[in-house]
Amino acid sequence: MCGHRDVATLDHFLPKSVYPEYSALSINLVPVCPYCNNEKGNKLGDAAGRRFVHAYYDTLPEMELLVADVTVDSSVFVTFRIDRPSGFADPLIDNLEYHFKELKLGECFESEAFDELTGRAGMFHYQYANNGGEQGLAAMLSVEAVSERRKAGLNSWRVALYNALARNRDFCSSGFRLLSREDWDF
Ligand SMILES: [Zn+2]
Repeated sequence: MCGHRDVATLDHFLPKSVYPEYSALSINLVPVCPYCNNEKGNKLGDAAGRRFVHAYYDTLPEMELLVADVTVDSSVFVTFRIDRPSGFADPLIDNLEYHFKELKLGECFESEAFDELTGRAGMFHYQYANNGGEQGLAAMLSVEAVSERRKAGLNSWRVALYNALARNRDFCSSGFRLLSREDWDF
């Protein structure tokens, strides 16, 4: 349901407390990670636009729906949101927004992005210093986004993250230095 963490449990898509008759029906058992299973709990999602996205029945359109916003201030701040394409009135997008909010996927991806960026601070310094400064770093970040897209699909949080970073001039010109207190001597 997050499309990210390791699947290790089965979720009753329709909660067994409400629908005990479906508790052993295979299409009602969706492989999920323990965190999503816990956040979903017994929530039913019982109105149009307030349902969880079903891994078997719902196919998301091939468009960028997950976007990251990067702000460079005293540090580098990354947030994630579902970006509804203008004029696109698909109830599936309503459900996706519900799914994203109820499962706290924004918080999950923000935490992962923080780890990712601090872990790669040295690489960003190296790229900036040795491979073209601001533009070189932006190009490397774009390549990361393309590579991740091929591996994990259009709406991977890493794709959203690296696309947003590549477009952010504050980050590529100097903001990346805020990720680490160390001096990188490349
Ligand atoms: Zn999950």
